[in-house]
Amino acid sequence: MRKSLLVLGGALILMHNYAFAQRSCGAQQVRASIIAKHPEAAQKFEEQRASLQGIADNYKLHIKTGVAEKTTATSPIPVIFHIVVNSAQFTQLGGTAGISRRCDSQIAVLNRDYNRQNSDSVLIPSLWKPLYASAGIHFGLAHTDPTGHATPGYEVKITSTSFVEGPNSYSDAKHAGTSGLDSWDETKYLNVWCINFSDNTGLLGVTVPKSYGTSLSEVGICINYGVLGKRSSPSDYYIQSGTSLNYYDLGRTLTHEIGHFFEIWHTWGDDNGLCPFYVKASCPYHGTPTAGSGSDDGLNDTPPEGDSKYDVPVYTGILGGTFHDCCATDTFGTSYQPIGVASLDFMNYTDDKAMQLFTPDQAAVMATQVSIVGVVTGENYSLTQNPGLLNWPANTGIEQTTIKNGLNIFPNPSTGTLYITFNQATDELKQISIFNIIGQEVQNINIAEQQKEYYSIDLSGMSKGIYFVRCNFASGSITRKILLQ
Ligand SMILES: [Zn+2]
Repeated sequence: MRKSLLVLGGALILMHNYAFAQRSCGAQQVRASIIAKHPEAAQKFEEQRASLQGIADNYKLHIKTGVAEKTTATSPIPVIFHIVVNSAQFTQLGGTAGISRRCDSQIAVLNRDYNRQNSDSVLIPSLWKPLYASAGIHFGLAHTDPTGHATPGYEVKITSTSFVEGPNSYSDAKHAGTSGLDSWDETKYLNVWCINFSDNTGLLGVTVPKSYGTSLSEVGICINYGVLGKRSSPSDYYIQSGTSLNYYDLGRTLTHEIGHFFEIWHTWGDDNGLCPFYVKASCPYHGTPTAGSGSDDGLNDTPPEGDSKYDVPVYTGILGGTFHDCCATDTFGTSYQPIGVASLDFMNYTDDKAMQLFTPDQAAVMATQVSIVGVVTGENYSLTQNPGLLNWPANTGIEQTTIKNGLNIFPNPSTGTLYITFNQATDELKQISIFNIIGQEVQNINIAEQQKEYYSIDLSGMSKGIYFVRCNFASGSITRKILLQ
């Protein structure tokens, strides 16, 4: 009996090894694929990395002298989540209500992590406390879409297509013509696609920043649908981490990817385990790096680091609780960076619960992106210039003109029964949901029980006021504001 239990235990451990993936991010692969097409880009990327410390120093100087204008405190960046999944994954996310909850929690996580307000900062070791910085960047769900209609801040497309890495980094998911959802104006919205990376179980995010010079329609962030937002219930579906004890369920994947969107690098510099300066001889610590002078992230206040760190690093207890690898700080290879490596940085590969901060230099590079610093306007400054997109559009009366699919929702205003018609030949309706003015789902219509191309919805008994009717079609979703009288 005991023997068979042991055998069973061994089998379970093996299964765990297969089932759980260590975090990875496509930043290095995106640069590599651009270099493969345009070899001259390699030098451009190195120049960009080499310029970062100067950008950080310049920002800090201008903030000190009051010349930098930081903009997002009063004008958060409008975020649109494009959810492109199959019907089983849509169910895993908890349907429209689950997606709505995840998007809300994701925005809350971003606003905490980018503004030095994350409550798990209590876990930061004492020697790292002075490096816990605020980027001062704020985010909000977009509530007006590019056509001026209401949006809950996300749109859903149900597709059976699986997305695999291509030359433009999951480009198919970013275009309606290839089973995805088109990006919204990249100068006004931060586009985030939540998709299934069917070819890579450990890949959680891939970002294409504006500076990479690809088509604007490729600019934005793809994350694995199973890491969107922060867990609100034990039954929520999230991707499990390499330790098998944790999940990527605190919304930190998007915190990390937006770091790339604002041009900061992984703390170890994507150089396959090399130290940027020197290697300590006979190093007893974790993650022994390869000898040689590699690259790091180009910033002074993230310590020299060999390779990515995973899971939840166990601090050695030395030097006030820091985590070390073998990258040394002096010519003789005798000295460690006293504070250890940035395993707790949002730009590392540790589990969500093990990362808590951006450093001042990282924060300064990112803040530059959305600021006017001296005479230089940040690359993403325009994202902060459309605060109206965060608001629900003003009441447009009874206008219910179809914009696509022949969709018509009437009468509006309604006194009880609402009718929805559309052209089934051009599109397939997947779901109808009704939201109240604060975004809560108040009705979810079972479309399987009704006729195609014609639905009636009973609103009698609901409080009078403004509601939003959201129709999820195979080609995308449409939301209409209605007035119940
Ligand atoms: Zn990354």
